[in-house]
Amino acid sequence: MVNSVEDPDKYETISIESKIREGVFHKVVKDLETGKAVSCSCKCWSKGKKQCAAMRTIN
Ligand SMILES: [Zn+2]
Repeated sequence: MVNSVEDPDKYETISIESKIREGVFHKVVKDLETGKAVSCSCKCWSKGKKQCAAMRTIN
């Protein structure tokens, strides 16, 4: 998979299963320099720019 955002030296993608919807995974992108979640595949982030529960577990 080629994705310019997911530079393996700087970012790590972590899949976290939703606690609300079984079988739904948040693909959280973690910035390895700051140790913080910078992006997520879910609607909370992609549409609302709100940190979802999965992102908050990383921060
Ligand atoms: Zn999410």
